[in-house]
Amino acid sequence: MIPSILPTYNRAPLSFVEGRGCWLVEADGRRFLDLGAGIAVNALGHAAPELVEVLTRQAGKLWHVSNLYQVPEQEALADKLVEETFADTVFFTNSGTEACELAVKMARKHFAEAGQPERVEIITFEGCFHGRSSAAIAASGAEKMVAGFGPLLEGFVHLPWGDHDALRAAVGERTCAIMVEPVQGEGGIRVLPDQCLKGLRDMCDEAGILLILDEVQCGVGRTGKLFAHEWAGIAPDIMMVAKGIGGGFPLGAVLATEAAASGMGAGSHGSTYGGNPLGCAVGKAVLDRVSDPAFLEDVNRRAGLLRQKLEGLVAAHPEVFEGVRGEGLMLGLKCKVAPADVVTAGYDAQVITVPAADNVVRILPPLTITEDEINEALTRLDAAATALKEAGI
Ligand SMILES: *Cc1c(COP(=O)(O)O)cnc(C)c1O
Repeated sequence: MIPSILPTYNRAPLSFVEGRGCWLVEADGRRFLDLGAGIAVNALGHAAPELVEVLTRQAGKLWHVSNLYQVPEQEALADKLVEETFADTVFFTNSGTEACELAVKMARKHFAEAGQPERVEIITFEGCFHGRSSAAIAASGAEKMVAGFGPLLEGFVHLPWGDHDALRAAVGERTCAIMVEPVQGEGGIRVLPDQCLKGLRDMCDEAGILLILDEVQCGVGRTGKLFAHEWAGIAPDIMMVAKGIGGGFPLGAVLATEAAASGMGAGSHGSTYGGNPLGCAVGKAVLDRVSDPAFLEDVNRRAGLLRQKLEGLVAAHPEVFEGVRGEGLMLGLKCKVAPADVVTAGYDAQVITVPAADNVVRILPPLTITEDEINEALTRLDAAATALKEAGI
């Protein structure tokens, strides 16, 4: 019999009932150290007092009005995003995949309005993940995501990771954009080197096409900069944001330059919930905190410590791990065993990690993780690796 929840996830037998900071409490009372943060969502940890305060204050005032009216909380968050980034304008969504939908529409509309309607193709890269809507799975092209779902949205060109010749050959008269994650998340914490990101920016400028960055997972302080592309000293034309920006409240956004957004006039796009007062009030509180240079400095300091400790873990368990990769607090342990086994052993040691492709286990703690918690995390990961070895996996 089909469960009451559509069985699209293989769920672990864990029911968390409470969270505080980096800690989750299971229904049976066990405390888990959370190095997953709901897949890079709980940027400020669970039940961050300032977010609880902002959310409950807004909940007592106004939940929803519709984008038929001015929404002051939305304007405040958009103004702050414009102030802190390359962007001139913002559209709010409820998720990353909705941000992908708009990024695709915006890029195509830009060229349609500019008299180049033939420019519809968007180049993406192997291992990418942009969400689960029809456009987002078409963007990825991965067999396991698209199989059985019928005709896909046309116009995506999928290239191998790191093949510069293939990329040069693919950019042509029909290309409108290149879409890429500065750090692939689901793909296995694969960092696009700064040189490559700069190269993509140059290539887009030369060809007169748009650079769309998907910072849904790597944005909002995760890599130690407010947005990951800042490490390369470049800026995109369009950027997708979600996950961390809501700190746990469903919120996403598309940020764009005035030029890239030029085609999107009244009636060209919409969302009932997108930018609702609850989400935007929380998002503003998250952004105020994370965009503070002192906060980002802390993230980088914590990230350095965590990375150093993870290198030690790899050295201590060469049968289990191959290496550490990533940027900031978006780290991956490349495994020699099945990542799912490492994650499961972690559950037994009461530490939460997240599997990814390319044999990687993701370490994505709240950005607020303390030094003591990092030490505790390593004790637990070490216990998990030792248990795996003893079990002969
Ligand atoms: C999670 C993710 C998405 C999709 O976000 P949803 O909120 O699940 O729709 C898109 N792109 C990247 C890089 C992601 O990590």
